[in-house]
Amino acid sequence: MTAADTTSSRAVAALREGFIDDLFVTDPEITVSFSRDRTGAYFGLPLAIARPRSAGEVSAILIRCAKLGLGVVPQGGLTGLVGAAVSDSVSPEVVIRFDRMSAVRSVDPIGYAMVVEAGCVLETAKQAAEAEDCLLPITFGSQGSCRIGGNIATNAGGFNVLRYGMTRDLVLGLEVVLPDGRVWDGLRTLRKDNRGYDLKQLFIGSEGTLGVVTAAALKIFPRPSQVQTALVGLRSTADAMRLYAKARRGCSDLLSAFEFMLRDGVELAFSHRPALTDPLETVCPVYVLMELSAGGAVDLPRVLESCLEAAGDLVVDGVIASSQAQAERLWSLREAMVEAQSRDGPYYRTDVSVPITSIPAFLDAALAELAASLPEGRPIAYGHVGDGNIHLNVVPPPGASEEERKTLFRRAEDLIFGVVDRFGGSISAEHGVGRSKKRAFLERVDPVTLDLFRTLKHVFDPTGFLSRGRIFDD
Ligand SMILES: Cc1cc2nc3c(=O)[nH]c(=O)nc-3n(C[C@H](O)[C@H](O)[C@H](O)COP(=O)(O)OP(=O)(O)OC[C@H]3O[C@@H](n4cnc5c(N)ncnc54)[C@H](O)[C@@H]3O)c2cc1C
Repeated sequence: MTAADTTSSRAVAALREGFIDDLFVTDPEITVSFSRDRTGAYFGLPLAIARPRSAGEVSAILIRCAKLGLGVVPQGGLTGLVGAAVSDSVSPEVVIRFDRMSAVRSVDPIGYAMVVEAGCVLETAKQAAEAEDCLLPITFGSQGSCRIGGNIATNAGGFNVLRYGMTRDLVLGLEVVLPDGRVWDGLRTLRKDNRGYDLKQLFIGSEGTLGVVTAAALKIFPRPSQVQTALVGLRSTADAMRLYAKARRGCSDLLSAFEFMLRDGVELAFSHRPALTDPLETVCPVYVLMELSAGGAVDLPRVLESCLEAAGDLVVDGVIASSQAQAERLWSLREAMVEAQSRDGPYYRTDVSVPITSIPAFLDAALAELAASLPEGRPIAYGHVGDGNIHLNVVPPPGASEEERKTLFRRAEDLIFGVVDRFGGSISAEHGVGRSKKRAFLERVDPVTLDLFRTLKHVFDPTGFLSRGRIFDD
């Protein structure tokens, strides 16, 4: 047994002392399953995994860890993409998991609110809302695995932000255990409450650095009884923006998704899933997946058709799904494109944003620079037009070594983020900073913002033991 092993078994014994035996899991054969997030780039075997059943137990865990000087990191479904939820590899942390705090406590179809525990899987929360004929609109690819606590801590976005907003816009109240063990009870379903500071907003998007979310009250909406989906082929991203502007008006603001993809991404999808066929007869440089949804007596098919008719020449080709199965096939094109990027190993991914109207100019500039400086990488661009949010990724050439990938990723990051800066954009529209974007974030953040971040962190967590080193260094 090495000296490090002895220290860690002493720490584990001190951690467990006086607690029910099954609160902590320390067997490395089990904890290893919770040591890597979806980036695959960060690995950290936790000292222990805590599995609390209540906010009270979370509080006791935090108090004990603070006393012992152990780092703590809350973990949701580990679908995060910035390495934030994984234990540090050098100083193993205590990971708090929420699989025992995953209940849907209530769904109120009159007040349009639901209360869920932090460990509730997003898909489960959505299904519970649906059972009451309501919609929890947070929607994206990892919804079958990510958990509400993780969605809140990352202020998750997704396909429906343009209609319903980010997670931040959907949270009515929170229960949070503070690093000193106090439970902050802000779990309310009030729509209006102007009693001073809106504290819940501090925790949303804080990537687990200010407190541990244990429950949330969320806004829900009437479930749309009709959905219309179309895939439209266009000549350019500038035309995609023109169509977006027209569609917002022409579709009575019933747009719930407006996703663009470039032809190269669509071809990547075809090569990945050969069963997929080109839904349009004409090959177009740019595609848009539009979704409209509504309830009540709205003639939604007519709204969509008239909007596309009014778009005239902008639309080169298009198809409106005539069934749910066909709509799913259209969406599977986008899914396949996302999956295909990782077919041959890790790729460089971004989730940048620029002002909505700058999307075409941003893409032109970034793609031209990538072509000139990194011709070996294959850029794949797609995104949520209505949010100005672009995933401009770079897929390395097949057979690239780990070293070659690293160099490519670093150069792609510098190049793409440099263009984002010129357009006054953000290097993280959705996924957060975590560890993977810390360097880039710190290179750009202004001193006043960083000072306020540090001051806030110090107020909540003066010793910095909660999610240490995520977003910035204490
Ligand atoms: C296929 C795929 C598609 C995706 N698409 C999108 C997308 O469209 N939009 C988008 O925004 N994201 C997307 N993501 C990223 C990811 O799914 C989201 O960031 C998600 O919200 C993370 O939730 P999680 O439960 O997996 O959190 P984790 O990855 O486990 O943790 C993420 C962060 O939250 C913190 N955290 C977790 N639980 C708590 C808690 N209870 N209290 C305090 N802090 C906590 C962690 O410490 C960490 O900092 C995608 C990921 C994948 C793999």
